[in-house]
Amino acid sequence: MFFDAHTHNTSLALGHGISNFRIGHDTKLPKGYFSAGIHPWDADSIDIAYALQELESLLTHPHCVALGEIGLDKACRVSLDLQTQLVQQQLYLAQQLQVPLIVLHVVRTMEEILAIKKQTNINAQWIVHGFNGNANTALQWLSQGFYLSVGAAVLHPKSKLKEALLSIDTSRLLIETDESTEKIEPIYRAIADILNIKTEHLKERIYSNINDLGVPLTN
Ligand SMILES: [Zn+2]
Repeated sequence: MFFDAHTHNTSLALGHGISNFRIGHDTKLPKGYFSAGIHPWDADSIDIAYALQELESLLTHPHCVALGEIGLDKACRVSLDLQTQLVQQQLYLAQQLQVPLIVLHVVRTMEEILAIKKQTNINAQWIVHGFNGNANTALQWLSQGFYLSVGAAVLHPKSKLKEALLSIDTSRLLIETDESTEKIEPIYRAIADILNIKTEHLKERIYSNINDLGVPLTN
């Protein structure tokens, strides 16, 4: 089994990954474990009070293992203030409900996210999903305790991820398909090639990381 740490495929079997439920858009609850959150893109277009109520109830669902994806995106038209406010509101809920994981959407907002983590007293692990940066950025995230989840961008021949993957501690690495039509297997294979290890070995590492995060696995 290739664990998929962040996917929009809602039919993934229980224990095979974390499917994302985007509040205000998705209607069908994923089959397996899932993350639930209000996406920054939606901060000015959905009824936030209502969405927060829905989030609160989803976060107590037995299959909900994470708050997410939430985050900050400087490439979208929604004001950063509004996005920040929404992140804070959701983190507050996650803290109250003791949600163990937070899945983050980060677009040109590393500094802001690092500052939020520093100010927030929340007992959870933070995962940057869709990580596609260079070695320096990867090391900065890791030094602040984040996990990095890498997806189909690694298949691009000019990807900076090769350099990043070779310089990080893989005990903080996760692998995902996100919205890609690519299957999870070739992404594992590409990363195993870069790390110069067998795909089976990489699978074991990722299992161990997922285990550290407290998500139950099904083989
Ligand atoms: Zn996603």
